[in-house]
Amino acid sequence: MITPLAQNLLSWYQEHARSLPWRGHVSPYAVWVSEIMLQQTRVETVIPYFERWMKRFPSLALLAEASEEDVLHAWEGLGYYRRVLALHKAARMVMEQYAGTLPSDPRELKELPGIGAYTAAAIAAIAFGKDVIALDGNLKRVFARLLALEQSVKTPAGERMLHDAALKNLPAGQAGVYNQALMDLGAVVCMPRNPRCSDCPIQTGCRAFALSRQEDFPVLPARPAIPHYQVTAAVIQHGRSVLIARRPPNGLLGGLWEFPGGKQEPGETLPGCLKREIREELGIEIAVGEPFGVYRHAYTHFKVTLHAFLCTILSGEPAPLEASELRWIEMEDLATVPMGKLDRAISRRLSPSATIK
Ligand code: SF4
Repeated sequence: MITPLAQNLLSWYQEHARSLPWRGHVSPYAVWVSEIMLQQTRVETVIPYFERWMKRFPSLALLAEASEEDVLHAWEGLGYYRRVLALHKAARMVMEQYAGTLPSDPRELKELPGIGAYTAAAIAAIAFGKDVIALDGNLKRVFARLLALEQSVKTPAGERMLHDAALKNLPAGQAGVYNQALMDLGAVVCMPRNPRCSDCPIQTGCRAFALSRQEDFPVLPARPAIPHYQVTAAVIQHGRSVLIARRPPNGLLGGLWEFPGGKQEPGETLPGCLKREIREELGIEIAVGEPFGVYRHAYTHFKVTLHAFLCTILSGEPAPLEASELRWIEMEDLATVPMGKLDRAISRRLSPSATIK
């Protein structure tokens, strides 16, 4: 028994499914990697990373064997580095606890690092054909419009209503294509702005369309203002070498290398901030010299403007008081260590000819 909505949706999908590299893979490992990369990240951004990743770590076993620095390097530029550390840790757990075979039960999947309810359901449905709903942003938008749901989709009650509506239409045994068809419909037809309702295969069942209120849904809570931080970084050179610090494994950009520095406090000048940060982080006194560029980046919950300065050591021996590790590295070798976007921009300015592997 298949509902008219599912019938129309699956017929549409047969003709309009997006061609995505992970769809050519049958391996649960590939589905897992793609789902982790797609968290908070656009499909177009993920595609080249996914293709490179599958060449570099073609199996779960090879990923488990790789070093943390290698996996961070392969992920560099994709952001949200906690994802890759968790993926790496989970690969090692699957090798140890499941003899290298990813479990198919969403409850067991959820026990692995980095796999939440959505990702567990997506892997279970797409890779193992389990009859579960993977309620991502696209599915939420489609069903919020179908139902003209006045409740916020970010509340447990709102999510439950969307999940139940999606589940009611799930054709038994076809969860993989059903979930992916909804994801594609949300991505290319039922878009956040200007949905293409005239091309929509499920338009007849859509309440938002009937009410001409498509863009009123989904209902979302008001967004808080995004803070903007001023941050400093010290470029401390010694001959052809420069001093870099490795961030602690937990927290933002965990495990990546950076030029030491930190956030400006109220009332501080930028050089004053940098001197204090370096004293606290490395236990040394520095002279802050010429500016070495201003770099900007927007993270999900805040923005950063980073001011880099050329600095020299006045006294003391650098020690990793807050970093997990310090390294004097030849400027030409900066490309060999994983870094976040802002620090990579500084390293490119120091060594323009070095290419990232
Ligand atoms: Fe979305 Fe329009 Fe289709 Fe409704 S009719 S599901 S708003 S594309």
